Amino acid sequence: MDLLNKLTQHTALQRLQNQVKVLGNRIADHHVSLAVTGLSKSGKTAFITSLLNQLLNARESADLPFFSVVKQGRLIGVKRDVQPDVTVARFAYEKGLENLTQTPPVWPESTAGVSQVRLLIKYRNQSKLRRLVSEFSTLTLDITDYPGEWLLDLPLLELDYQQWCEQFWQDVHDITKSRLAEPFKQAISGLDIESTPDEMQLQSISTLFSDFLLQCKAHGFQLIQPGRFVLPGELAGAPVLQFFPLTPEQLTSITNQSVFSSKETVVGLLSNRFEQYQKKVIKPFYSKHFKRFDRQIVLVDCLSALNQGAHSFNDLRKAVNWLLGSFHYGKSNILKRLFSPNIDKLMFAASKADHITPAQQHNLVLLLESIVHEARQQIQYEGVVTESTAFSAIRASKSGTAEVNGKTLQVLRGTDLNGKKITLFPGDVPSVCPDDSFWQQQGFQFPAFAPMPLEVGQQTFPHIRLDHVLEFVLGDKME
Ligand code: GDP
Repeated sequence: MDLLNKLTQHTALQRLQNQVKVLGNRIADHHVSLAVTGLSKSGKTAFITSLLNQLLNARESADLPFFSVVKQGRLIGVKRDVQPDVTVARFAYEKGLENLTQTPPVWPESTAGVSQVRLLIKYRNQSKLRRLVSEFSTLTLDITDYPGEWLLDLPLLELDYQQWCEQFWQDVHDITKSRLAEPFKQAISGLDIESTPDEMQLQSISTLFSDFLLQCKAHGFQLIQPGRFVLPGELAGAPVLQFFPLTPEQLTSITNQSVFSSKETVVGLLSNRFEQYQKKVIKPFYSKHFKRFDRQIVLVDCLSALNQGAHSFNDLRKAVNWLLGSFHYGKSNILKRLFSPNIDKLMFAASKADHITPAQQHNLVLLLESIVHEARQQIQYEGVVTESTAFSAIRASKSGTAEVNGKTLQVLRGTDLNGKKITLFPGDVPSVCPDDSFWQQQGFQFPAFAPMPLEVGQQTFPHIRLDHVLEFVLGDKME
């Protein structure tokens, strides 16, 4: 009897212990879905490559003094795991690493679509509650990389084909854009828009339209719509990307409105493809990916825009604010209908801060804040915690001093993309969005730096404030 009692007690105790263990694991193992975006060439690939490089080597050679879990010696180890979504491309970390460690090192290939990577981060708990149930926890971190250009398409959901055409041609009034649009304008001028569509002809005009958008991008314009035409991802060559805007004159010449709803006419087919683009391209991105993100980093390359001149900088401001429209969903019915968002923290990060001297970096943060000011207030109003910073994912310059005309100046030293050693002072960064006088008097100029080779025995890339970024997005999840 005594033995039976003991056995029953033992089993009950074991059950209780198991239940505590299960609960403990539940508290101990948690998950963050971190999204990284920004317009093309804003530095997303370099950022994720460097972040993985730091975390995967964090125990042996971490250079993350501000990341609390590292600073407090609580990081046990980080490993890469199989990503959850097999339909999404794997982030090409190994290839990026190969590029950056070859002789001479080169930058990894830029983001062209959505890609993902999953990390398991094991650490020693600091929080009393967590320590009660387990000494260690594992954070599953999913990082998703996606082009910011795709977020620029959100406002297209509120337009029909005709409204889009009108908006498009208003925007082409800019002299440079108008010149770049010439071949496309000529191609559509002779089109009989009420006739039966010729697929091959529409395809070749769509190519001219894409070329125009790509040319705009190459000339420093940042607000490019539809976003998939410049970064098609897996949709390259698909008919859903084969449409273009007719001119308002062409549209008003139509007397019989029924042609818009007939796919047997050019205008009807274009209008239908525009709707398909809204339904099959824009909306699925939000419902498949966007709504799953918990935390978001938006990279903004203010310095390259300053480098390219007033038109580029002003376009960047507009584009970043359009892009941020996806994060103040309270204002937008379309967004509310598409998903119930989860993002609770958002970081604005001015990238490539190694292109300026340390003394200028505070101004870069202020400049970024002046660009995002309005959108940031609205995003915060939604209950999202935000922060701005300036950082460099992979520092490619060294700062130092030089004597110029008897004066000591802060300068940067590095190697340009042709392998030539350079020393330069790129200019003062304005602390607010610059006005005309800035562009007339001062301007801003720097050549791109090539990545520096790693020193013997060095495993992690030098960076500026990557640890601040990590602390903001993950610090509170690893307590
Ligand atoms: P993505 O299109 O957003 O993925 O942009 P990338 O990460 O490919 O970066 C575009 C280019 O910006 C790179 O090829 C580099 O020339 C440059 N770049 C990115 N990050 C840094 C950085 O931290 N420092 C410097 N000096 N250049 C950078």
